[in-house]
Amino acid sequence: MKGSGELQMRSRFLACLALFLVLFLAVQAVAETLPDAVSPAALEETPAPGAETDLTGTPLPEATEDPFPFIIRYGSRDENKIAFSMDDCYDIECVRETIDICREFGIVMTFYPLGIILTEEDRDVWQSAIDAGCEIGTHTMNHGAIGAYETRVLISAILRPQERLDQVLGYHYPIRTLRPPYGNIEDANGRITHAYNVLKLTGFQHVVNWDVSQTDPAKALPRVQNGSILLFHARPVDVRCIRTLIPQLKEKGFEFVTIAELIGLDKEVATSTDLFVFNMADYY
Ligand SMILES: [Zn+2]
Repeated sequence: MKGSGELQMRSRFLACLALFLVLFLAVQAVAETLPDAVSPAALEETPAPGAETDLTGTPLPEATEDPFPFIIRYGSRDENKIAFSMDDCYDIECVRETIDICREFGIVMTFYPLGIILTEEDRDVWQSAIDAGCEIGTHTMNHGAIGAYETRVLISAILRPQERLDQVLGYHYPIRTLRPPYGNIEDANGRITHAYNVLKLTGFQHVVNWDVSQTDPAKALPRVQNGSILLFHARPVDVRCIRTLIPQLKEKGFEFVTIAELIGLDKEVATSTDLFVFNMADYY
């Protein structure tokens, strides 16, 4: 009887061993079908989904939780908001006329004047833009290519327009959005890292480009979609286009907002009596 008990134990042991072996092989087979684990190094190299890259495909220096990339070309495609913008603003009479059109149609838009054209004699124009609910951003001091500037010159080109604007208005009106001249911030090597770092240093979280640039209303109209940013300049042909387009776009159900609102900034601009004075030592 002892012999048969021993035999039973041995066969149970073999059965357990066989079961273990089968289970082990099954686990191995499943493991092989799973993708390889992502190494921490690979995570660092991989841009977040939707992250902006420069034209060479190089990811920006840091990932962001922000729904907008650093270089913005349009707002949300899920909302019917659009934003008109006007660059340079050399012809102040065209600016004045555009503000009148905004009032007439009850819409708002964003102006990106160069710092050099902001003068106290045009105070009424810029104040009337603000009174109409429009936004004033910056297009740098004198239209130099941002990517070509060395650090100190770039800081100055970005921030001196704020000083000029405050002087013109007689109070502090914070400039919150920036339109780069030529819609470009790349350096000679096609990299945006330098401009990106300096812009962040001066307080700009984005640069704002556009997805529609047309002065022919018939061509512009079909290109406008949810979130579109339209680019204009202070010229008669642009003013005519704006006047024609506004009622057509309103009829299509679009809501006109400032660039700041389009990219999720506060609708209210926090003005103050504390005029901005530019001091390079504060930044570099
Ligand atoms: Zn320009």
